[in-house]
Amino acid sequence: MLEKHSAGDNITSYCTKCKLGLDHVIVAVEGEEIVKVKCKTCGSTHKFRDPANVKKPRAAKKKEDAAKVAETLWESCLAAAKGRERMYDMGGKYRVGDVVLHNTFGKGIVRKLYLNKCDVLFKDKERLMASSN
Ligand SMILES: [Zn+2]
Repeated sequence: MLEKHSAGDNITSYCTKCKLGLDHVIVAVEGEEIVKVKCKTCGSTHKFRDPANVKKPRAAKKKEDAAKVAETLWESCLAAAKGRERMYDMGGKYRVGDVVLHNTFGKGIVRKLYLNKCDVLFKDKERLMASSN
């Protein structure tokens, strides 16, 4: 037996704005089907989406997104970097904001300094590189 829903009832739906399964109020019903719900949290009205049916993003997609995020961060850091630009050398001394050129990894931005190491953000990801700080 299907539960009978009508406008004004409370229901848990996936909110497309909050990106969560939350309490919603049914706005419109067509026959047995809930067509519109209103989110009690953000107040937006949208299609009813059963939270159980909302697919979680696949791991592969997440990985892709992470690479994209790294690239975007790399681009903005490179644009903002005001330090010197030079070839990477593990005996070199660096400062945050320096731009280094690596034979294999390409251009990177020094993001953090440690004792004899530094975090360098390359286009694909951040790497811990040897230095002589
Ligand atoms: Zn919401």
